[in-house]
Amino acid sequence: MRIFDPHIHMTSRTTEDYERMYSAGVRALVEPSFWLGQPRTSVGTFCDYFDAILGWEPFRASQFGIAHFATIGLNPKEANDPRCREVLDVLPRYLEKDRVVAVGELGYDSMTPEEEEVFEAQLALAVTHELPALVHTPHRDKLAGTRRTIDVVNASGLEPGRVLVDHLNEVTVGEVAGSGCWMGFSIYPDTKMDPHRMVAILKEYGLERIVVNSAADWGRSDPLLTLRTGEAMRAAGFSVDDVDRVLWRNPVEFYRQSGRLEIDDLDETVGAVAGATFEGNSVLRGSRD
Ligand SMILES: [Zn+2]
Repeated sequence: MRIFDPHIHMTSRTTEDYERMYSAGVRALVEPSFWLGQPRTSVGTFCDYFDAILGWEPFRASQFGIAHFATIGLNPKEANDPRCREVLDVLPRYLEKDRVVAVGELGYDSMTPEEEEVFEAQLALAVTHELPALVHTPHRDKLAGTRRTIDVVNASGLEPGRVLVDHLNEVTVGEVAGSGCWMGFSIYPDTKMDPHRMVAILKEYGLERIVVNSAADWGRSDPLLTLRTGEAMRAAGFSVDDVDRVLWRNPVEFYRQSGRLEIDDLDETVGAVAGATFEGNSVLRGSRD
């Protein structure tokens, strides 16, 4: 089974996770820029973070045989903090970088006017930079948030087929299915969406425009829940080809719209730099010696 995790925050994960993911079949992933838990107080800390997920983290992933891409944006939660507004000014520079395959993650957290303004501004950047957009849906008031998300996407001029609306569930999937946007599902170890509920959604809605991710981060999460979903699909009668479509070909198709997903070169990229160093650091040795 080959797996492309279209939404995972590797900055928050260990090298052991990379090893387990590789063993499970993960060969490529997308790391969206997001909220780090601790509020950031200036634009400089965002720049360092963006540089890390475009520099150090792809290097670290490559040491474990996994191709690493990123999405860049001002996350919904920090869109409410006036100290972070300046991030919008530095985004154009980052959106031109090679490994950036979408603007994101964007969207609503608490559905404030500030969030909406920042969401709209970043969808406009996606249009200008000819990039797809990765859109987060709120965990509270999910249905209203998803409906409002679709309205804002429709008003943005960005083609729905270039938008991935993420963190969906049984309540919100119908809204997005009819919109033409891609549907993203984050599989969690406890509440929210699990592999069996995901299989039920695939049975009902089919495989088109659907991607599955682990959204693993610094919270309770599991980077192997993509694999577990593939296993649950097989147990429920889906074919090997169906699983490959959901866990590999669909995310490739979505992010390839960026023109930057060097997936044909993947086999050569992967594992090619074992033993290399990044600015003098070798992650395999685990230190700065
Ligand atoms: Zn995320």
